[in-house]
Amino acid sequence: MTIAVFAAHPDDETLGCGATIAKLAATEDVHIVVLGDGITAREASRHDRAAADALYADAEAATTLLGAASVTFERLPDLRFDTLPLLEIVWRVERVLREIRPASVFTHHPGDLNRDHQLTSRAVLTATRPVDGCPVRDLYCFEVPSSTEWGFAGVAPGFTPNVFVDVSETIETKVRAMESYRSERRAFPHPRSPEALRALARYRGSTAGLESAEAFQLMRSIRAEAVAQEEREA
Ligand SMILES: [Zn+2]
Repeated sequence: MTIAVFAAHPDDETLGCGATIAKLAATEDVHIVVLGDGITAREASRHDRAAADALYADAEAATTLLGAASVTFERLPDLRFDTLPLLEIVWRVERVLREIRPASVFTHHPGDLNRDHQLTSRAVLTATRPVDGCPVRDLYCFEVPSSTEWGFAGVAPGFTPNVFVDVSETIETKVRAMESYRSERRAFPHPRSPEALRALARYRGSTAGLESAEAFQLMRSIRAEAVAQEEREA
């Protein structure tokens, strides 16, 4: 099975579903697509290509650690996705879907505080709409510590997980992958710190009878007959 992960920024894939990627990558092809450049919105690094390249190198190290089959960078402007027509983001997602034809897709939750996360979620939901030829059967959204929990539930829909993946064996791989991001890692009590990532996994696990879990909200699942699906693709 082919799986695609659409993240707004380098590190969101690790924060959102790194331990699940590490688990799935043992048997499946997991392709990671990072839409934004993740750094040029910061005043000090606005024109600092070296800082951006260092971040991409960190992302490659992190996703190699997770065992992903590939990571690609679309380099949209950080924290300025809302300066682009939504359609441009949708087209980029659609192009990837045509190329790798994933059966499962993971992306951001639409209620995140971060605007790029919201727009990524919206673009992926649009690109994966179930019309003829769309390969995507299951669409999940993940939570990103320091964005999903900082969204205000009164304004946006809150993250309500209904799928829990046992990551007892891979949570430390996620923590190590996050440590690869030299400019993005933070010390406790920041939500991205190793202690907080482990604590979140323990908490999510405890709500599902597991030692450690990553939690997802299933946005859509289509259980098609295999024969009908093959006919459509032929
Ligand atoms: Zn982000």
